Amino acid sequence: MICQGCHLVAGGFLCERCRSGLRPAPERILHGGIRVVAAFQHVGVARDLVLGLKYRGLTAFADLVVESIAPRVPAMPVVPIPRTWSRQIRYGIDPAREIAVRMARAVGCPVLDLLSPPIHAPRRAGGDHHRLPPRFGMRRPPEGRIVLVDDVVTTGATIRSALSVLGPDRIALVIAANLADTVSSQR
Ligand SMILES: [Zn+2]
Repeated sequence: MICQGCHLVAGGFLCERCRSGLRPAPERILHGGIRVVAAFQHVGVARDLVLGLKYRGLTAFADLVVESIAPRVPAMPVVPIPRTWSRQIRYGIDPAREIAVRMARAVGCPVLDLLSPPIHAPRRAGGDHHRLPPRFGMRRPPEGRIVLVDDVVTTGATIRSALSVLGPDRIALVIAANLADTVSSQR
């Protein structure tokens, strides 16, 4: 196999050197007291791997993310924050759902597709970092507490948008592949 980090031959999807370069993310508490558990800091190889998941459909990273954080995730239904329809169609993958399916399997609970995505992500001039949070629809309300999943958490604006639909008291935990500094850019 070719390492997805350095593109040299490796024993798996990630060579030992790149694997050792992954930095575990600290836990973050969002405004409102919502706890975020992410696998890695959104830098270096971890950033490349999440971009590979989002734009090239390389899902091995999703397995590694789940393996890394599953011990900290309660056994509750898992709800992915859906990617906009236009991007799901363009890239053929919904990264949060890839993580959600694997996490649900790991904790023995179902995936619930409670949120419907917007067609397009609204943008402001000045790049993706200034993108407005997407507005989600609700397919059906949660019946109990759930684990919410995104691929990368940066400012938490997308999470807050999802919370406003689902109800903050329904969210036991937010999980993500990567946690970014609010000052770093997100593609
Ligand atoms: Zn490598």
